Amino acid sequence: MLTDTHTHLYSEAFADDRSEMMQRAFDAGIERFFIPAIDSGYTEAMYELESKYSDHIYLMMGLHPTSVKENYKDELAHVVAQFQRRNFYAVGEIGIDLYWDKSTLEIQKIVFKKQIQLAKKHKLPIVIHCREAFDEIFEVLETEQDDDLFGIFHCFTGTLDQALRAMGFNMKLGIGGVVTFKNGKIDRFLNQIDLAHIVLETDSPYLSPVPFRGKRNESSYLSLVCEKVAAIYGISKEEVARVTTENSKEIFGV
Ligand SMILES: [Zn+2]
Repeated sequence: MLTDTHTHLYSEAFADDRSEMMQRAFDAGIERFFIPAIDSGYTEAMYELESKYSDHIYLMMGLHPTSVKENYKDELAHVVAQFQRRNFYAVGEIGIDLYWDKSTLEIQKIVFKKQIQLAKKHKLPIVIHCREAFDEIFEVLETEQDDDLFGIFHCFTGTLDQALRAMGFNMKLGIGGVVTFKNGKIDRFLNQIDLAHIVLETDSPYLSPVPFRGKRNESSYLSLVCEKVAAIYGISKEEVARVTTENSKEIFGV
C-alpha cells in the first residue's frame, strides 16, 4: 500500500478523465491521497472529490504562497472559516515562493506565520511549499519553533545541509518526481537520511517523474518514485511503501 502525501487530484487538469486516473492509481496500489489546498477558488472542488472517494481522500486546508495577493486577508478568513466548519489533516500547502513573485515576500511571510499558528492551535502538521526561499522559510520557522511545530517539507529539492536543517524543525521530507531527474541532485545524498524522515508524493499534476517528465503527472506514477527511492536505499519497493506509509500515519494521525 502506497500513500501519496501531496496530490492535487481536484485540479482542472483531470477534468476529462478523473475517474480513469483514480482507477489507475488504485490499480498501482495507491490507497491514501493527501490533498493540499491552494486558495478559495478550489475549496468546492476539494469537497466534491472527498465526497466521491471518501475512503481514500484526506483534505488539507490552507493558502498557497503563489495565491497570496492583495486580498490575502479575505483568503485567510476563508481558511479559518473552513476550520470552524470541519476537520482537516494538515494546514497546507503554505510557505514562501520567490520564483513567481518576489514583490509579495512581506505578505507571504505574514500569511505563512499566521497559518503555522493556526496549525499549532489545532495540533496539526504544516505542509510547506518552498521555492527559491529556503532562508526565508527557515527564518520564519525559527520564530515559530516549539513542540507543536511539525510537518512535511513538500517537494524537497535542497541540499543535504538544508535537509538536516528542515529535519531539525521536526519536518519530514516529501520526495517526488524530482528524485528521478538526472539533474535533480537529491538522489546523491538521500540514502544518508534515515527513511524514517521520508514520505512520498507526486504533486500531480505537476513534476512528473521520468519517463513522463514534462507531461501531466498523476498519482499512479507514485510507484515510479517509490521504485527510485528503493534503488537509492538499496531496499525493496515493498519496504519503502511500508515505511513511508507508516511515516505518513505518524504525521497526519490517520
Ligand atoms: Zn502542491
